[in-house]
Amino acid sequence: MHPFPLSLASPVEHAAALPGSADLVVIGGGVIGIATALFARRNGMHVVLVEKGRIAAEQSSRNWGWVRAQGRDPAELPIAMEARGLWRELAAQSGEDIGLAETGVLYLAGNDRDMENYQAWTRIAAAHGLDTRLLSGAEIASIQPTATRRWPGALWTPSDMRAEPWIAVPALARLAARQGVTIREQCAARGLDIETGRVAGVVTEAGRVRAPAVVLAGGAWSSLFLRRHGVSIPQLSVRSTVVRAEAAAPFPGQAVDDALAWRPRADGGLTLALGSAHDFFIGPEAFRQFLTWLPLARSTFANTRFRLASPAGWPDAWTQRRQWNDDGPSPFETMRVLDPAPNPAFVERIARLFAERFPAAGTPAITHAWAGLIDSMPDVVPVVDAVETLPGLVVATGMSGHGFGIGPAFGRIVADLVAGRSPGHDLTRFRLSRFSDGSRLELGPAL
Ligand SMILES: Cc1cc2nc3c(=O)[nH]c(=O)nc-3n(C[C@H](O)[C@H](O)[C@H](O)COP(=O)(O)OP(=O)(O)OC[C@H]3O[C@@H](n4cnc5c(N)ncnc54)[C@H](O)[C@@H]3O)c2cc1C
Repeated sequence: MHPFPLSLASPVEHAAALPGSADLVVIGGGVIGIATALFARRNGMHVVLVEKGRIAAEQSSRNWGWVRAQGRDPAELPIAMEARGLWRELAAQSGEDIGLAETGVLYLAGNDRDMENYQAWTRIAAAHGLDTRLLSGAEIASIQPTATRRWPGALWTPSDMRAEPWIAVPALARLAARQGVTIREQCAARGLDIETGRVAGVVTEAGRVRAPAVVLAGGAWSSLFLRRHGVSIPQLSVRSTVVRAEAAAPFPGQAVDDALAWRPRADGGLTLALGSAHDFFIGPEAFRQFLTWLPLARSTFANTRFRLASPAGWPDAWTQRRQWNDDGPSPFETMRVLDPAPNPAFVERIARLFAERFPAAGTPAITHAWAGLIDSMPDVVPVVDAVETLPGLVVATGMSGHGFGIGPAFGRIVADLVAGRSPGHDLTRFRLSRFSDGSRLELGPAL
């Protein structure tokens, strides 16, 4: 078994000296932070991006690589569609092969209720001019001819895409650096510099950077970072297990059914995962946010394995420090790369389900197994908003399992928010105040 390719053992690629001041500091070197920094630079800003570990070493390299508009919340759909166009442009500008391909995305129905949900979603797609349609069982067989399982129908968006996460996001960071973004890995932001009630910069482990604007794109760490500054977001994370495998036979398109997800990779292998099964490690934040999360927890209960204690060093560990001084190490330096162990039972189940569905391909040889902590919000849509109580701070986090595909567009949007420009989309659904203004949480379609 090979180790996961991005880790603390990976060489530091971006070690720019930190300037004393900038127009914008971006915290977090995942797809959201990098895209934000890149577009802010293109808006003419002097941008510094700090990453506590390695660029893209957390969620942004560990995901399935699906760049999909299919199944998105109606408020996200136009943004996801913009993102697909931006992925094409950025792939070309990067000059690297990031494995971007228009492979289509296929959701295979397990039962009639799935088909009803899919049918309802086709109306949303049609309203936005997306090429999504329902497929019959016979049509599925022409797309997945080697599968022995028969599904009653499917939802299919031929224009959806994929890219190779652990290649693509570092390539975007290199593009951003070439275009003038100052990037520094192995550099945690310990806290915000606040003067007379507004953001005046960021205190990092390598010193202070003064800036009138800060974007927090800290993935699973955002809630821990914000709470210390009096900002509460009901963000929790689940562990999701993924493998890279090699199958004996060539293999058609990417798809997910009620148990298994599969995607042919640009390197000839397959990325495989359980469709929605995940582990949830309970910590104090989970208790605090219990009521807010209850509606979503009910609907995902069957797919969740509850674990009693969030491990040491994780954002919501029982032993996690919630307060620290900016002049000493913060929790972000203690855990530079969050690299959860994969669930071994899930790895076995993935291999078994694959062999059952595709007997001609044989038992897949697993070359890599890894996990990622997916940061989520209780209504399955992110927070992308300026923080009213801390002028100068914009939060872009809680991507809820789909930030890779949509990332470039949210980066473009956040850069425009920082520049005081119109974001070009209605962002009401992603407002921070939805958790405190008395409005009823509306769950996303969770397709
Ligand atoms: C197993 C799995 C499968 C997924 N599948 C898909 C998919 O197919 N398609 C899709 O669109 N999405 C998918 N996702 C979700 C997607 O990967 C994430 O939504 C997206 O990568 C989030 O990007 P981000 O930049 O917000 O967070 P991250 O990629 O987690 O980046 C946040 C970064 O911030 C850094 N950081 C945090 N705090 C600090 C600090 N104080 N100082 C400095 N740096 C800090 C962290 O080290 C980290 O590198 C999947 C996720 C997982 C884990």
